[in-house]
Amino acid sequence: MTNEAKGRTLRRRGAAERRTLTPVVRSEMEEAMQDEMMTKEHAQWPEFCKRMAVEAVGCKHTLDGAKRVLLALGWDDPIPSTWYLKQHGAFCDCEVMLNVVCA
Ligand SMILES: [Zn+2]
Repeated sequence: MTNEAKGRTLRRRGAAERRTLTPVVRSEMEEAMQDEMMTKEHAQWPEFCKRMAVEAVGCKHTLDGAKRVLLALGWDDPIPSTWYLKQHGAFCDCEVMLNVVCA
């Protein structure tokens, strides 16, 4: 593969990682995975929000705080929930508050 082609592949891959799904596909995914992720409809959502308000203060531009809160709330796998948060515009702990909790 030429360097130029490699560059194109890397750029495409970067764009795909940033891309969010269309609202219809997203809501279908969320419905199918609702038992595996923290959503606004989940019974633990108010507690999640309360704890995220604390984590957001020390935001390190990651979702590590969100993962910590999810583990503390008894979630074995925080990945589906962080997928949900990213789909709603939260790519770090303070954006969870700004773009999801307070949106
Ligand atoms: Zn942040």
